[in-house]
Amino acid sequence: MPIYEYRCNSCNRLSSFFVRSITSSLEPTCSHCTSNEMERRMSPFSTGKLEGNLDAGNDHRAPGYYNDPSNIGRGVEDAFAKFGKDMPQAIRDNIDSARAGEIPKGIDL
Ligand SMILES: [Zn+2]
Repeated sequence: MPIYEYRCNSCNRLSSFFVRSITSSLEPTCSHCTSNEMERRMSPFSTGKLEGNLDAGNDHRAPGYYNDPSNIGRGVEDAFAKFGKDMPQAIRDNIDSARAGEIPKGIDL
């Protein structure tokens, strides 16, 4: 069952919707503020990015990607950068210590 992700133009938050089939029409309503000013977001599941095009340099799904410790947390950094948000210091610290080879606090191995 496809999942569509929409961004609300009123509150800027994301909502996900299951649709019965690719052809069924969907009139999404924001699950946070009930606005219907919704904009479709392309999810990685619908853009075909999961197949092929794996590049160890910049894709976390490529084999060996995490052999380079500087890649730890890169997806998180990208996500914060993409939305123009400052990363909370606690997350920054966890990424930095993981890159230094330390186990982040709160993770029990
Ligand atoms: Zn909303």
